[in-house]
Amino acid sequence: MSRSVLVTGGNRGIGLAIARAFADTGDKVAITYRSGEPPEGFLAVKCDITDTEQVEQAYKEIEEKHGPVEVLVANAGVTKDQLLMRMSEDDFTTVLDTNLTGTFRVVKRANRGMLRAKKGRVVLISSVVGLLGSAGQANYAASKAGLVGFARSLARELGSRNITFNVVAPGFVDTDMTKVLTDDQRKGIVAQVPLGRYAKPEEIAATVRFLASDDASYITGAVIPVDGGLGMGH
Ligand code: NDP
Repeated sequence: MSRSVLVTGGNRGIGLAIARAFADTGDKVAITYRSGEPPEGFLAVKCDITDTEQVEQAYKEIEEKHGPVEVLVANAGVTKDQLLMRMSEDDFTTVLDTNLTGTFRVVKRANRGMLRAKKGRVVLISSVVGLLGSAGQANYAASKAGLVGFARSLARELGSRNITFNVVAPGFVDTDMTKVLTDDQRKGIVAQVPLGRYAKPEEIAATVRFLASDDASYITGAVIPVDGGLGMGH
């Protein structure tokens, strides 16, 4: 079974590990990228998810080359950390427009083909801080918490059409996004993680692949933590 899979932000970090996980099992994988040279081995489509027209063009290209998207992983995301006092409206709206509204744009466009096919798998990448909160990340945490309400609403709206919507909430993962943290910040985080380490991107990818597999056919509206125990109880 070779499905048409789209991973937004699949050019690096967690998204690239997810794209590789699907390609390894024979799926046709498309990834988005915004600039530079995308990695080889995938259908790379240039797309900024804050721009509806670019999202439309990306889907057209994918549909032409791989067919309608059957598995969508909405992974692309940004941070613009700042304490509330210093957080500008642009810091807030940019993060929301990418992480939450950007996800809305790609999910809405994927839904067209999934409704027609009467099946589909959608996995949204949230974060442990969406439910835990995080000082200095009010914009990011709000966007990631928003994904939960978004996914659960769609799970109810489209469950009868055989489309599942699930959320993966990673803890701290070794990628460019967390490279900006100082050694002291890293030590502080690791001290709170029961498993005592950061996640590898592949550990997030394995859960995403499971949620898109036949083994997860009765799972929808779930929020699956992959956080080494950091968010336990939430
Ligand atoms: P990276 O910063 O390494 O990668 C972010 C990815 O998102 C890049 O591919 C980037 O593309 C893409 N992206 C950002 N903005 C846009 C946009 N407007 N349009 C299209 N693509 C965009 O982050 P990670 O791999 O660490 O994170 C991936 C996801 O996992 C994010 O949603 C993040 O919030 C989430 N996450 C990460 C955690 C971590 O500890 N790393 C923890 C919990 C959640 P480009 O190369 O063009 O910039």
